[in-house]
Order: sequence, then C-alpha cells, then structure tokens
Amino acid sequence: MDANQFREFGRAVIDMLASYAENIRDYDVLPSVEPGYLLRALPESAPEQPEDWKDIMKDFNQSIMPGVTHWQSPQFHAFYPSGSSFASIIGNMLSDGLAVVGFSWMASPACTELEVVTMNWLGKLLDLPEEFLNCSSGPGGGVIQGSASEATLVGLLVAKDKTVRRFMNNNPDLDENEIKAKLVAYTSDQCNSSVEKAGLLGSMKMKLLKADADGCLRGETLKRAIEEDKSQGLIPCYVVANLGTTGTCAFDPLHELGPICSEEDIWLHVDAAYAGAAFLCPEYRHLMKGIEHSQSFVTNAHKWLPVNFDCSAMWVKNGYDITRAFDVQRIYLDDVKTTIKIPDYRHWQMPLGRRFRALKLWTVMRIYGAEGLKTHIRQQIELAQYFAKLVRADERFVIGPEPTMALVCFRLKDGDTITRQLLENITQKKKVFMVAGTHRDRYVIRFVICSRLTKKEDVDYSWSQIKKETDLIYSDKIH
Ligand code: PLP
Repeated sequence: MDANQFREFGRAVIDMLASYAENIRDYDVLPSVEPGYLLRALPESAPEQPEDWKDIMKDFNQSIMPGVTHWQSPQFHAFYPSGSSFASIIGNMLSDGLAVVGFSWMASPACTELEVVTMNWLGKLLDLPEEFLNCSSGPGGGVIQGSASEATLVGLLVAKDKTVRRFMNNNPDLDENEIKAKLVAYTSDQCNSSVEKAGLLGSMKMKLLKADADGCLRGETLKRAIEEDKSQGLIPCYVVANLGTTGTCAFDPLHELGPICSEEDIWLHVDAAYAGAAFLCPEYRHLMKGIEHSQSFVTNAHKWLPVNFDCSAMWVKNGYDITRAFDVQRIYLDDVKTTIKIPDYRHWQMPLGRRFRALKLWTVMRIYGAEGLKTHIRQQIELAQYFAKLVRADERFVIGPEPTMALVCFRLKDGDTITRQLLENITQKKKVFMVAGTHRDRYVIRFVICSRLTKKEDVDYSWSQIKKETDLIYSDKIH
C-alpha cells in the first residue's frame, strides 16, 4: 500500500466512522451472531497475495460489523463506559502515524514530555494534591498506564519493594523471602476483579474485607484486620481503596482509611477507575476527602472521559519509589541522563515499550476544554437521574442503592428470580444492554449512561424497552 492508497483507504475509513456515529441508532446494541460465526466466515490461512483495500472494507462490513457489540450505542448501559470521541480517534491516528516507542526521553522526547504536560493538566483539573504533580517542587508525577489493572499491580509491586527495603534496612539479618511471604494487602469485598488479581500476580495475600451495607470499606474494619494480622506476625503492606466500586459505585471513606495507612506506613492506592473523572466537577470532590494520605491514584481517562482505550491515568506521590522498584539497566538503554522531572517512563511501568498515548489525551483536552469535559460528566449524571425518575414512577420497581454518578441500580419488588428473568429477556432482544450486580444480597440490574451520544430520547427508548419486557413478564404470569 503506498501513500496515495493510504489516503484513499484512510478517507473511506474516516467517512465510515463519522457515519457510524451518526447512524449508530440503526444497530441493535448486541449482535445476532452465534459463537464461532467469524471463524467459519473467514479463510483459515492468511492471503498469499496482497489484496485491495476495497475488498478488505467489503469484508469488514459483511463479516466483522455483524459481530460487533456497539459500546458507543446510546442503548449500551452495561459495565462502565468505554470512552471515545472524534478528538481522541484523531489523537490515536497521530500516534499510530508516528509509531514511536517512548520508553525513554531520548526514544522520543515529545512522547515523554507531552505525557508529563497532559498528566499535569489532568491532575490539576481533578484537583489532586499538588504532591502528585510533576510540576510541584517534589518528586511526584503522573504516568499513563494501559489499564487500571496495571496501575493497581504497579502500586502493589512498588509497595512490596518499599516495605521489603524498610524491613531489611531496620534488620539486615532478615531473609528477604521471609519478609515477602509475610506481606498482606487489603481491599474491600466490593473491589474490582483486577484488584484481587493484582494480589495473585504480585504474590501477595489480598484480603477482601467485608464492606458495610452501603458497599464501603470502613476504617474500623481495616484497623481490626491490620491489628489481627500484626499479632500473627504478618506485615500489612498495601491497601486499595475504591472510589466508585464496579458493582454499585460505592465510595470508601478515604478520610477513615487514609490516617490508618499513614500511621502504619502502608501504601494506600486509590482505585477511582470510573468515578475519578467526576472530580473535574467541584461538587463531587468531597468524595475524595482524605486523598492526601494516598501514595498512588488511578482513574481511567478511557472510561468516563471521552478518550479511547487505553489511557489509564496514574499519579504517584514519590516517583523515586517507583523508579527504585523497576529500574533495570542495559547498555543499549543508556542514553541521556534524565531526572525525576523528565522521566524515563520505562521505569514507571511493567513493559519496556510504550505508545504515544498522551497525544489522544492532549487532543481531547484541547478540543473539549475543561468546560466541555465537565459538561460531559454533568450531562451523563443528569441523564442517569432522569432514568431513576422514570423507574421510581413505576411501582413495580425499587431503586437501591441511591444512584451515584451515572449508575442506577434497580430491581423488581417481586424478587430476585423475576428480576433476573427480566434482564435475561431484555438481553435476548438485543435492543438494550445492561448487566447485573448485587446490593445487600439482592440481585439488581445496573443501568449506566455510557455513550457520549446518549440523549434524553435514548433514555426514554431504553426505558420503554424495559417496561415492555416487564409488562410481558407480568402478563405471562397472569395467563
Ligand atoms: N477498577 C474499577 C473500579 C473498575 O470499574 C474497573 C473496570 O471496570 C477496573 C478497575 C479495571 O479497569 P481496567 O480495565 O482499565 O483494568
């Protein structure tokens, strides 16, 4: 493919994607295909000869599109959002076009420095404590990870390294492996699966402490667990607090957990993968009260901000902690000596290679502006509140817990079985996509405003489908 063919193919794809966004309501949110459909449709071997891009587009439309779940559909209300916008797609294209690998400053100075700049911008917009920012006088800073899962694992590995060093310094006779075997991490039983997985991958016991009836991990629960473990000779090392749990968007009280971690010298990592974007708006910042006690914080720009996957924004208070844990030298990586202010980002993450992800964050922040991003968050919350109002007006339903952010959990008053049946019936029709959760041991349906394209009429449509299926269930019961 030469540059001219690239221009043609590229224009066709941009046109197609623009029309896709305009006409997304023409598609069912869920595809009507069976497992193995694409394996059967595509050849078993790669083509021997080069093919024409027009044939590729034809097959894309005929074979790929029918198997796509439309995450940007206004009827996608499952999980949490997958951020996207034209501005971000353009940023990604620029990044792919340059195809640089920015593991060190020298490997591409702009890749490193734009990441520093955009992470300072975003950190300021979220009103994070200044110590987290590269532009402060201290050693803090931001880094774009691929996912919140990676950020939580990075936090755990750094906490492990730091704790082992501390114990070895105080007691040089201690055996490193014995210390490692005694380390314990804590989070709540409402944590995302990735937090539990970080414990598995980092070989550290991750204790899932019981959250209270509202899904929050309370200070006294953490304190009790720490005391108990210390009395058994274990070493508390890492706590993951959840600001916006995946199930019900509950917020752990950082102002309770934080002082305990500070007192015990435990690394406190904040997982605000979804809800962190709300701190753009001053009215939600009370939910991060106590943040100053944390050592690391992550929010996924690729969730609730209109930035395409992957763009997980992580900040640490002390960049030296992270570089000390992950610094491995080779002669071929030995380039310009950088400082904590101009980081070699390979020391801040698990892989060596890294994409120019800051470009899409930059294009999004510039095209939207801080005001545009705040409006996006506020509108999505308003739409969720509108949906909650519709549900409340129907006596067959109950909402619980009280909706937070753009998530509404609801169920039928007549119990878990019928609520489960309702969700199954709705999913089968493929018009609206939601998933289940639990609240106070009850089965609930989670309804999240996900797509940036969702309008009030779309919420009306989703609700009309939910109501229609509910009517059908009740009329079947009567007959
Ligand atoms: N933490 C929370 C609270 C989440 O809701 C999710 C995903 O939904 C994650 C972590 C995992 O995010 P990622 O897919 O970026 O690893």
